[in-house]
Amino acid sequence: STFLELGIKKEYLQGLKELGIKVPSEIQEKAIPILLNSKTDFVGLAQTGTGKTAAFGLPILHAIDADKDEIQALILSPTRELVQQIKKQLFKYTKYCSEKIFLEAVFGGEKIDIQIGKLKRKTHVVIATPGRLVDLIERGEIDISNIKTLVLDEADEMLSMGFKQDLNRILKFTTGERNTWLFSATMPDEIQRIIKTYMDSNAPRVE
Ligand code: AMP
Repeated sequence: STFLELGIKKEYLQGLKELGIKVPSEIQEKAIPILLNSKTDFVGLAQTGTGKTAAFGLPILHAIDADKDEIQALILSPTRELVQQIKKQLFKYTKYCSEKIFLEAVFGGEKIDIQIGKLKRKTHVVIATPGRLVDLIERGEIDISNIKTLVLDEADEMLSMGFKQDLNRILKFTTGERNTWLFSATMPDEIQRIIKTYMDSNAPRVE
């Protein structure tokens, strides 16, 4: 199928095309219709390089209400490089969109004051490493109480990098109406435990 047939709005197609994203990859084909059309938790078994950024990124962008000055989605990823890469990709997807969606990347290693300053501007989607996000929450400098979607990208990597405690805190902090979309290349016990504890047991799974 085409991205249009999967439900992606026409205004995204040119931006995708300029990234060489013309035909949906397998994970995009499977995940996009689910994530666009239903409020659901989701588990995706996916390696890097399979196109998972667009698989979760496009549905997130479609669900943003750009008129609201609220953080509506939070994407967690293990490293500074991945966080910046996701922000860059999402920004390019929106290149030809009529609405302006504001994305912000926060990660360890950059002066926190700079990130605090950026978060004072209108922000719809935050892409973050877990440690820095917890730091910002504890300082009261970020309000994630209105998020509709929490993405755990490369969840197994986040755990092996020592973010287990931070992840648990974020997951506890954001319970409520939000949906959790977990992507991981492997499904060790620790990941199964997160799914069991914080996610809907009937959540669709795709590999
Ligand atoms: P990801 O797995 O999301 O990190 O994507 C890996 C690379 O594949 C990125 O450079 C994407 O721009 C590219 N990509 C993603 N989806 C597609 C697609 N459907 N067709 C061609 N390239 C893609």
